[in-house]
Amino acid sequence: MTALIGLGWMDEAACLTVPELPWIGPRRGQPLDPGALEQMTQTCDHCPVLNQCRHYVDQAAVSAGFWAGAWRHLSPDARVEDAAGGQVA
Ligand code: SF4
Repeated sequence: MTALIGLGWMDEAACLTVPELPWIGPRRGQPLDPGALEQMTQTCDHCPVLNQCRHYVDQAAVSAGFWAGAWRHLSPDARVEDAAGGQVA
């Protein structure tokens, strides 16, 4: 069994600098703003702790929100589609 990595890396998370973006998803019944999705994607792409974040969400099986450049509430297939510019459910 692999131990979860610590959480100290979160102090350097780039998403902390843009808390107004919908990291947990759009409001219920609201469409996701494509501009916000682009901003979140760019933020993750340039995040100094992207690798730690990706490792953490995989280890912890995070199942909600936008982490490490992808929605985590979608199926793995949908994540691939989303990363390729597909529609977010
Ligand atoms: S990769 Fe994205 S979600 Fe993860 S810490 Fe960085 S900015 Fe936040």
